[in-house]
Amino acid sequence: MSSIPKEPVLIAGAGIAGLCTAIGLLRAGVAVRVLEQAAELREVGAAVSLAPNATRALDSLGVGEALRAAANWPQRAAMKHYRTGEELTGYAMGREMEQRWGSPYLQLLRADLHTVLVDALQRLDPDALQLGARVQGLQQDAGSVTVQTTAGHFTGACLVGADGVRSAVRAALYDDGAPQFTGYVAWRGVVPTDSLRNPDLSPDTAVFLGPRRTMLRYRVRGQSAVNVVAFAAVDGWAEEGWSLPADADELRAHFAGWHAEADDMIEGLCRAGAFKWGLFGRAALPRWQQGRVSLVGDAAHPMLPFLGQGAAMAIEDGVLMARALVHGPDVVDALARYEKLRHARASNTATRADAHGLRIHNHLVTAAPDAPVPRDDFMEFDFDAATTPLDEQEPTCA
Ligand SMILES: Cc1cc2nc3c(=O)[nH]c(=O)nc-3n(C[C@H](O)[C@H](O)[C@H](O)COP(=O)(O)OP(=O)(O)OC[C@H]3O[C@@H](n4cnc5c(N)ncnc54)[C@H](O)[C@@H]3O)c2cc1C
Repeated sequence: MSSIPKEPVLIAGAGIAGLCTAIGLLRAGVAVRVLEQAAELREVGAAVSLAPNATRALDSLGVGEALRAAANWPQRAAMKHYRTGEELTGYAMGREMEQRWGSPYLQLLRADLHTVLVDALQRLDPDALQLGARVQGLQQDAGSVTVQTTAGHFTGACLVGADGVRSAVRAALYDDGAPQFTGYVAWRGVVPTDSLRNPDLSPDTAVFLGPRRTMLRYRVRGQSAVNVVAFAAVDGWAEEGWSLPADADELRAHFAGWHAEADDMIEGLCRAGAFKWGLFGRAALPRWQQGRVSLVGDAAHPMLPFLGQGAAMAIEDGVLMARALVHGPDVVDALARYEKLRHARASNTATRADAHGLRIHNHLVTAAPDAPVPRDDFMEFDFDAATTPLDEQEPTCA
């Protein structure tokens, strides 16, 4: 028996996880209040790859058409040697991947994904989003949750913490300290194609593997731009904060001597004004829920980006959190069921992303020259197990 929450569901954070949760709930007729700290919505951080599990979950939120209109549809991916540019291994994406998994693999600017989600939210309820509301504390009792924010107090049936790796909701529940530096730095930026020495990229998605360094590039916005992310395994993070404008000399020094195609991307990043990010993570939490409060996305399970699954898990979380709340039987049971559906999958994905990061950054340090190139984690990832479990348990789910 289901009982849809009568009070609004409060959601901390209007990132990918929070917006997907909100859209799923609003489509089922549940009121939401999305509390976002930023005074205006501005998504930064270059681009995002959406694997078939992510695109299927987004399709279930009714945003598939807008998503496809904004995204690139890569046809093939390759791993290349950092010095020779030789293709070490490759695989088909495009139609072949869509046929295998039932949904496409897409790539787009994060700002464009954010626009698709915010537009969908505002069509469903133009008043759902409260900007300038930084969550600072919470209290719950047997019937409701009250959240203190910089824009005042809000009360609802429950609270979904979708406020990212530095989650205030997680801190209020578990007080598990600040995120820890993971040992990786990333430089990210979007390079105009016409600024490259060689704009003919083949294939359209490539990862260059080097010793303790990797570089990913793929097209976005049709043929007009290339998203470039360069990673380095380093000993520590000594900077103030966790994102800052890149120092071009430092970036060049990390990737000196790389193949001309990779060097073209690094020079493009320097011209385009890349940002340098320290990648921070957290130890897995054994539980996410406390009573009427739970967590989604990076707030629940931050992960390294090496399987391209952080946003995908955030999207799956949002879809299944919304379905669980809609199908009750009450809020506390629904949050427990959401956690049961999501915890193992998200935790395993985070563990595999760690392992894949170690393998690709150490491959050319430790492996024999003819050792197989480690692409397995990505290829064996279960792109199917996305939004199906709740459907199977509850055939009435939309
Ligand atoms: C270099 C890099 C590349 C990546 N590439 C990919 C990829 O290709 N594919 C993929 O699937 N994933 C990728 N990821 C991971 C992905 O970006 C994250 O997992 C995803 O953005 C998490 O979304 P989220 O909504 O949980 O958190 P966030 O995107 O961090 O959103 C959190 C929101 O909460 C708000 N907020 C924070 N604190 C408060 C507060 N106290 N009160 C109110 N609001 C608050 C923030 O302003 C923000 O709007 C990558 C990550 C990195 C670092």
